[in-house]
This record gives sequence, structure tokens and C-alpha cells, in this order.
Amino acid sequence: MQVELLPSSVPPSGLQFLTTYLVGDAVAIDAGVVGLLALGRQRRIRHVFVTHEHLDHIATLPVFLENVYEPGPESVEILASREVLEFLHADIFNGRIWPDFFALSRPDDAFVAATALEPLRPVTRAGLTVTPVPVSHGVATLGFVVDDGRAAVAFPSDTGPTEAIWRHLASVPNLRAVFLEVSFPDAHAHLAARVGHHCTTSFATEMHKLPRDVRWIVVHRKPCYAETIAREIAALGLPNVELVNPGFTYEF
Ligand SMILES: [Zn+2]
Ligand SMILES: [Zn+2]
Repeated sequence: MQVELLPSSVPPSGLQFLTTYLVGDAVAIDAGVVGLLALGRQRRIRHVFVTHEHLDHIATLPVFLENVYEPGPESVEILASREVLEFLHADIFNGRIWPDFFALSRPDDAFVAATALEPLRPVTRAGLTVTPVPVSHGVATLGFVVDDGRAAVAFPSDTGPTEAIWRHLASVPNLRAVFLEVSFPDAHAHLAARVGHHCTTSFATEMHKLPRDVRWIVVHRKPCYAETIAREIAALGLPNVELVNPGFTYEF
């Protein structure tokens, strides 16, 4: 399985401002930056799984759908919880912020197709089985576990301390990696807890809930704290923990 966290800042900063993962070339998780890719790569993406409606995860979804639209029955599919699909329709594709691509879509000429995801009900797209698992982020958020039959990778998305996804992953034998967030340094642990994010210490505590030999890849460091978090992570000397490298293609 190939996974890339798309870069969302001008090189060489390596900072992450927005979130989109590509898994292979047909599946995206979140749409923070997908609409800025080279057009040829955008056109190969057919399924966009959305974890939640926060702007850093959906910022370029409207322009992406416009960029890849071609007249005809085929369209990109958005897969998300029913709540998130309703938010996208009411607050983004509402005929004001952006055209109502849902209402404009017809069977013979579609802008977008929507599929509602249910927790722990896997769906298969482009050879990947994707299992949605609720996490703990203040707004209803789904993490995703993606399995291509050989390797599985977990994308818990934005979350603070949580349980269901670790319980689920305990029974995923081919799990290779977890892309887990650390948004705040420990000095802001209280704020992290209030808004459903991890600080460095809660990240390390979370690792103990999955006592498995997997790669832990740190994502979602808020730009103003990125250096501090990197120092705190390094100081803990945790095995199998690395900072994400945006734009790098991971092979699992
Ligand atoms: Zn969020
Ligand atoms: Zn976020």
C-alpha cells in the first residue's frame, strides 16, 4: 500500500497546514489540500473519505470537485458519516458558498455521489477495504483503517484520548502503521483535552493502548508548536515513533 500525506506548505518548511492523505492514486482521506494537486493526479482520485467537517480537512473539496468534473454519469464519490454529509450540503454546497453539487447531480450528469458511512461497517473501494471507527474530537469524527489485503494502516484523524479504534486495531493482524496526531505541546495539555486533540504526553499514553510493533507516524502538529512538539517527542525516546514527512510516499 502506498500512502502520501500531501504537502500543504511551500517547501522546504515541511509544516502541515491542511490534511489530505492519498492511498494509492484513487482514494483520498480528507480534502484539505487535494484540490491543489496537479490536475492529472486529481483526476485519478475517485473516492474521498472525509473524517469530519473541520476546515483543514475539507478546505479544497469544493474546488477539487469542480476541477475533476466531466459531463456524464461518472463522478467522484464522497464517503462520510451522515452528519458530515449533511454539514457539507448545508454549509458548503448550499448554493451560496458553492453551487449545490448534490442537487445539481443527475443520473446522466453527476458532479458528486455521496455515500453515508456507518461505524465499523467496512466498505471496499479501489481494492482497499476501509473501516470507519469513531474517535474523540469534540465533533463527530471517523478514523479510518485501510487494508489492501497485505497491509493495514490506521488514520485516526483528529482525536484526543479514545478507545474504540485501539480495540478494533487489536484484532487487525497485518497492521503496519498508525498516523496519529499531536496538535499541542505539553504546556497546552489542558487546551488539547478541551478541544479533543493530543499533546505529546497523551500521545505517548495512547501508544500503550496498542502494544504492537507498528510504526507510529506523528501528524497534525500545529505550525506554531511544531518545533516544540518535535523536541518533546525526541526527548521521550519512544521506539517506532517518527515525524511525518509530507510529500513522501510510504510503502507498507
Ligand atoms: Zn478537527
Ligand atoms: Zn485537523
